[in-house]
Amino acid sequence: MKFETSAIRLQTERSQHREHSTPIFPTSSFVFEDAEQMRSLFADEQEGNIYSRFTNPNCSELEQKMAVLEGVDQAVCTASGMAAIFASIMGLLRAGDHLLATKAIFGATHTVLTQWLPRWGITCDWLETDTANWESAVRPNTKMLFVETPSNPGLDIIDLEAAGRFAKAHHLIFNVDNCFATPYLQQPARFGADLVVHSSTKFLDGQGRVLGGVVAGRADLMAEIKKFCRSTGPSLSPFNAWILSKSLETLAVRLDRHCDNALVLARFLSTHDQVGQVRYPFLDSHPAANIARRQMKNGGGLVTFEVKGGLEQGRRFLDSLQMLSLSANLGDTRSIATHPASTTHAKMTPEARLEAGITNGLIRISVGLEHIDDIISDIDQALKISQV
Ligand SMILES: *Cc1c(COP(=O)(O)O)cnc(C)c1O
Repeated sequence: MKFETSAIRLQTERSQHREHSTPIFPTSSFVFEDAEQMRSLFADEQEGNIYSRFTNPNCSELEQKMAVLEGVDQAVCTASGMAAIFASIMGLLRAGDHLLATKAIFGATHTVLTQWLPRWGITCDWLETDTANWESAVRPNTKMLFVETPSNPGLDIIDLEAAGRFAKAHHLIFNVDNCFATPYLQQPARFGADLVVHSSTKFLDGQGRVLGGVVAGRADLMAEIKKFCRSTGPSLSPFNAWILSKSLETLAVRLDRHCDNALVLARFLSTHDQVGQVRYPFLDSHPAANIARRQMKNGGGLVTFEVKGGLEQGRRFLDSLQMLSLSANLGDTRSIATHPASTTHAKMTPEARLEAGITNGLIRISVGLEHIDDIISDIDQALKISQV
C-alpha cells in the first residue's frame, strides 16, 4: 500500500458493533478469562492487553501505523515528544556512555542532554550541521548519534545519508528527530536511522489538540525502549492515541497544503523590502537546498525570516498581526508566529543565541492551512507597521 492508503486503512480495532471508525478504549486495565490466561499473559507466553501503562488498543493501532509509515519494525507512543526523546536515550544508554548531537537542536532536548543526562553519567558533545568534521568528535565510549533535521527553529538541514554512513562506520545508534518533516516528507530509516523520534503534538496531530510522542525503529532497540516505557510509565492516553490515529488519515493532504503555502510565503518574503534573510529548505537560497531536495519530498510547513531592524521591530511585527496566532505550538491548521529571541531562547546570552542562528529579528512562522492570500496579507501589513 502507498503511504496515503496505509495512513488511512491500517485500522486494527473494531468491536462487535462493527463501527467504521475505530472506537476509543478508555480503560486502565483488561479482564482475564481465567487464572491461566492471566498467568500466560504476564509470562509473555501470549500477546494481549493487561494494563494500559503497557499496551492499549488505541496506542497499539497508532504504533502499528507509525512503524509502517516510517518504514521500520516497531514503534511505541508516549505522552509527549520529550518523553519519546528521553525514552529513546535512557532505554539504551548507561553511565559512562557518550552521545553526539548536532548543535541546532530543540531547546528542551538541549536541556536534557546538558543538564539531566550528566547526572546519570551520560555525557554529550556537539557536532556542526556540516558532517565534514564529525570524525574527530568520536570517542571510544560514543554510543549514539542524535540529529534533528530540519531543525527547530533555524531550519538547518543535516545530510542524513552522510550521517547514516558516519553512524555505521563508528557503530553508533543513529537517532533522528523527524518532527518537522513527518514520515510523509522524510523517512530517516531509508538513510540508515536506527531510531526515529517524534513530537506528535506538531504535524502528526496537526490541529493543536493533543500532546504526544513516538519512538519508532529497529526491533532489537525497540524491545529495550518498550521495556523502559513499560516500567517508567510515559504512556499515551487512549484518547490522545485515538485522536492521533485519526489525524494520520489526513497527514498527506495536510502536509501538501502546508508545503504549498509555505513555499509561496517564503518566495513572497524573499522579495520583501522589510525582510532580511529568509529560510525555507526548498528555497534555492537555503545553504543546504540540494541536500533537502535529496532527502525530503517537500520543504515542510515552517518558514523563518529576519524582520529588518532588530528586537523592537520583531516585537512590533508580532503585535501588529491580526490573524496569525502568537503561540508556542507549530504544525497547526492555524498559522502561528513566534519570536525566539524574546521567548523560547530569551534565557540564552546574545552570543549563544547567535551561535544557534537566532538573531534578534528572527521570526518563525508555522504556515497553516488558511488561504495563502490571507496569510500573506496579514504578514505584509504587520511588516509595514514594524518599520514605522
Ligand atoms: C516540540 C518539539 C519537541 C518536543 O515535543 P513535545 O511534544 O512538546 O514534548 C521535540 N523536538 C522538536 C523538533 C519539537 O519541535
